[in-house]
Amino acid sequence: MKRERRVKILATIGPASSEEAMIRRLHEAGADAFRINMSHTDHEMMRELVRRIRAVEAAVGRPIGILADLQGPKLRVGRFEETKVDLSVGQEFTLDDDPAPGNATRVHLPHPEILEAVRPGHRLLIDDGRLQLVATESDGRSIKTRVVAGSKISDRKGVSLPDTTLGTGALTEKDRRDLDAVLAEGVDWVALSFIQRPEDIAEARKIARGRASLMSKIEKPQAVERLEEIIEMSDAIMVARGDLGVEMPLEAVPGIQKRMVRLARKRGKPVVVATQMLESMISAPVPTRAEVSDVSIAVFEGADAVMLSAESAAGDFPVEAVETMSRIGVQVEKDPLYPQIITAQRPEAESTGADAVSLAARQMAETLSVAAIVTYTSTGTTGLRTARERPQLPIIALSPVLDTARRLSLVWGLHCVVTEDASNLDEMVDKACRVAVEEGHARPGERIIITAGVPLRTPGATNMLRIAYIASDGRSAV
Ligand code: PGA
Ligand code: MN
Repeated sequence: MKRERRVKILATIGPASSEEAMIRRLHEAGADAFRINMSHTDHEMMRELVRRIRAVEAAVGRPIGILADLQGPKLRVGRFEETKVDLSVGQEFTLDDDPAPGNATRVHLPHPEILEAVRPGHRLLIDDGRLQLVATESDGRSIKTRVVAGSKISDRKGVSLPDTTLGTGALTEKDRRDLDAVLAEGVDWVALSFIQRPEDIAEARKIARGRASLMSKIEKPQAVERLEEIIEMSDAIMVARGDLGVEMPLEAVPGIQKRMVRLARKRGKPVVVATQMLESMISAPVPTRAEVSDVSIAVFEGADAVMLSAESAAGDFPVEAVETMSRIGVQVEKDPLYPQIITAQRPEAESTGADAVSLAARQMAETLSVAAIVTYTSTGTTGLRTARERPQLPIIALSPVLDTARRLSLVWGLHCVVTEDASNLDEMVDKACRVAVEEGHARPGERIIITAGVPLRTPGATNMLRIAYIASDGRSAV
């Protein structure tokens, strides 16, 4: 299966999309990788979802990435007797340490450290700021508040505390348990929530020991301040606009998004733009014009992936949401202004073999108008560096390592194919030609460009660039 776009789609799996048949439909509609939100998924369900995604991958024969998103020190209220309650501005509402289901006057807040830290006058922003409360009294076991704005609260909604200083670490106890469990299932990516410092990534890195790549979610002002160092420590970043827009002024988020995409592209680290991209499609089969424009901005900026949250996890139109996102990607990338806009931010090559070869491959490809760049990548580095060039033609990443192909599934422009390494140069060129044709990215009579590190499987040794002409038997004819 061949995609007609370079930007990738990361779709969150949830109640609306947890069946294997639905996961397959979402993949076929355009989802390149799936996100499992550990805030809402228990271990048993997580294992089942991983099994189902892997089954879809085997059935369609394309590598599919899995991102497990750790909750982080995200605070949530407990559950309600009736799932949700209506509130009115000015009324009193209490958050307390009683695990009993909530009602119109109170709800459980299962975080004793917060019950102790909040002081009268502190704001409590619930559900991404849709409900605003202000503390009027607190006694260490309960916080009495007044509703300042908003009209409802429901099960497990998030709580932000912009005025309260919390001494929480990077990984909570739950995160540690979840991290062990998702690593044992062999997920490809782990997302770390509410990163504040570069050191926050080191702890997860130590536990992961290379078993999964780490994506830092940028959703705190502290993380924005130390963006470059955090990108350096991470394998990828996410513009987590949901919490970012609560923790910072909403109008600051678009500029931060641009800065994040540029910095990540410069470092050659994947960047995902997330949250509310097609929010209205949770309950409607078509998006708003503003949402289409928002997705298009991420595509024009050259983000690696755009993400669906509740749209695919819990909405009424998960397939339509993926299709819509995919169509926007295809259309924007066909726009006459797109090449110019995306290359305006092209970073300079660094002084490494991988960058020199990737830059030369792109330039040759553009000069000769070849059909595709085929890159042999075992660790994924050459694939990432090729994508960093944002060449305006398909990139096929060949890897003998399934984990690499899965991990690269959310990287801009990479069409990943798992294949045994070739044993000599002739075989390598033949194989590249054959795969390019089989995957629908080239036809006999066209040329491709091949990049590799020879001998293959030598990390950091990208040193080969070759032009090959595809003969009518689909093999190389040089
Ligand atoms: P979340 O992260 O959906 O896990 O909160 C994304 C965001 O905050 O935008
Ligand atoms: Mn978040």
